[in-house]
Amino acid sequence: MNAKLQTPIDYLKGVGPNRAALLRSELGIHTYQDLINLFPNRYIDKTNYYKINQLQRNGADVQIIGVITGFKDVGEGRAKRLVATFKDDTGILELVWFRGHKWIRDSITPGTKYVIFGKTNWFNGVFSMPHPEMEALEEHEKNLRSAMQPIYPSTEKLANKGISNRVLNKIMQQLFLETHGRFEETLSPRLISELKLIDKSKALFNIHFPENSELLAQAQFRLKFEELFYIQLQLIIKNLIHKSKIKGYNFEHVGAHFNTFFQEHLPFQLTNAQKRVLKEIRADFGSNAQMNRLLQGDVGSGKTIVALMSMLMALDNGFQACLMAPTEILSVQHYHGLQELLNKLNISVALLTGSTKTSERRKIHESLENGELDILIGTHALLEDKVKFKNLGLAVIDEQHRFGVAQRSKLWHKNTSPPHILIMTATPIPRTLAMSVYGDLDVSVIDELPPGRKDIKTVHRYDKNRLKVFGFIRDEIKKGRQIYIVYPLIQESEKMDYKDLMDGYESISREFPLPTYQISIVHGQMKPADKDFEMQRFVKGETQIMVATTVIEVGVNVPNASVMIIESAERFGLSQLHQLRGRVGRGAEQSYCILMTSHKLSEDSKTRLQTMVSTNDGFEIAEVDLRLRGPGDLMGTQQSGVLNLKIADVIKDKDILQHARYYAKAILKADPSLSAPENVVLRYTYAQLSKYKNIWNYIS
Ligand code: ADP
Ligand code: MG
Repeated sequence: MNAKLQTPIDYLKGVGPNRAALLRSELGIHTYQDLINLFPNRYIDKTNYYKINQLQRNGADVQIIGVITGFKDVGEGRAKRLVATFKDDTGILELVWFRGHKWIRDSITPGTKYVIFGKTNWFNGVFSMPHPEMEALEEHEKNLRSAMQPIYPSTEKLANKGISNRVLNKIMQQLFLETHGRFEETLSPRLISELKLIDKSKALFNIHFPENSELLAQAQFRLKFEELFYIQLQLIIKNLIHKSKIKGYNFEHVGAHFNTFFQEHLPFQLTNAQKRVLKEIRADFGSNAQMNRLLQGDVGSGKTIVALMSMLMALDNGFQACLMAPTEILSVQHYHGLQELLNKLNISVALLTGSTKTSERRKIHESLENGELDILIGTHALLEDKVKFKNLGLAVIDEQHRFGVAQRSKLWHKNTSPPHILIMTATPIPRTLAMSVYGDLDVSVIDELPPGRKDIKTVHRYDKNRLKVFGFIRDEIKKGRQIYIVYPLIQESEKMDYKDLMDGYESISREFPLPTYQISIVHGQMKPADKDFEMQRFVKGETQIMVATTVIEVGVNVPNASVMIIESAERFGLSQLHQLRGRVGRGAEQSYCILMTSHKLSEDSKTRLQTMVSTNDGFEIAEVDLRLRGPGDLMGTQQSGVLNLKIADVIKDKDILQHARYYAKAILKADPSLSAPENVVLRYTYAQLSKYKNIWNYIS
């Protein structure tokens, strides 16, 4: 690495201690190297000038040529500001400064032509521009190098302290002067030639001082690729180290349980996707390494049967298995479902949740430790220290996004050796994102629904159409179908939500009276046993309507239910709406999802509702969700670090990400230690990146 690049930023000419302190605290820039890697957010065309009468009320950055005709002081105390009248041949604009009044008055000559640049505000019929960047037109014409002027990330504090974009630009120029713009190459010659990348120095120059748009595009491509490549390299290396270090139980044979179940008790044909995933799991079981696999599959894609058959493989090799689900309802449902599927096999299954009675609990603990119990299903009650297995071979975690990493690792320590771990999630994460976020996991995808599923018809209705919706419910019930009606329950306004739910329940009870109609209600404030009782009534078809909060969001499976009505749908997130909708459409009948909302809708809400109406594809929905919310929010904070990218964008640049992953994998496969001469540069750069964590913070 260019030794000069480790120089503290204070030493750069034009920076000095005050600016250096600001750059450090505001942008995390400590060294020359950090500064070089401060990439512009965007570029604007500085050969384009606005006339004052062309200004729009959109607050965009604009550049205008004109003259200052006079100054005035306005306001008192903290509100005191200096206002200049700025004129071109089409109109008048006010320039406003809250600080530095003396300096402005001294350095600006009224009557000369200036180029001003900044965002405009519109107030009381006048446009104004606070703290404009200004340059005399003469000077401006001398300095103009390109139509693409970089705009750097900034903060309010930086702007207030005079480190404007123009200043950053000057500092950057100085840096290129001092380093002669020569930077060491960080990718291998082979990657550069195969991908036709421009070299590092050229890329860095053009990202900061684009010569033309073609070179800017090449610079962006090269730097994005590099960023994503090193992330992938790191994730894959971690994964390889994990596999070589952590020995797993070897499940050598496929035995009686698996075969008998497969040949005699499987209630349907597996889809090709299910078969493929089972093969991937089987390969992991026989690889001598501990499996850490994420199974993604849209709601209703049939993950449970894959989990069950994987557990049978564990049992066939003399091990126990467990299945952990995030809610009581879901655990109970898994328990009943698996018992039914396994009832002809000689396998013992137990359920352990927070509401399991002490005497029962004791029995479970005992039979778990002496090995009589084969499969344990339950909530995070399974994680309690008292729960000890004789030999846990496989732990399945359903709906992983509700469990933290810490809980995963608790399962690990249930044994002397860590069990294989299969995590299932229906919260679809775009595959490329999953690869970068869950880099330590292998990912399997069920991308195919069981045959015969019909798309769920989704409509958006306003509250005033409620009577029609009730009519529709009546018709569906006449046909023998069941209905879900879901109300939001969001922590902050729990009391009000609860009232909405109860009001809704009352009005539905009036609309659908006994004895013709039976209604179940389930919500978070009920005792688990009551919840279960109500749920079971609905599962058995004794009630036709289930009024509930989102406690039913995950996993519940009632194939006869064909209508999902979501109240105040504008208050739900996209993935939640998709999950809820996934509760219907599980049988052969046409199913419906009705999104009820008030008239007042934000733009984001409208987008969410339109997305739900237009597609049933969970992955497509996830992409929109990601766009609306940003990856950090979607993944939870503990995982978003890895997404703290400097130039690439995991959504927009997913093609580049795929390339980066492909090359990282191929290179490591051929040369795991990166010791071949052609890879030396990669190993060196990788080591540098890991060492200077603060420099390129995208290495998590
Ligand atoms: P999820 O992936 O959402 O957990 P489930 O495992 O609950 O989905 O499966 C949804 C429904 O589809 C269940 O009723 C299940 O029995 C059924 N199912 C799963 N696989 C198949 C298949 N290959 N053919 C037909 N039905 C299937
Ligand atoms: Mg499920």
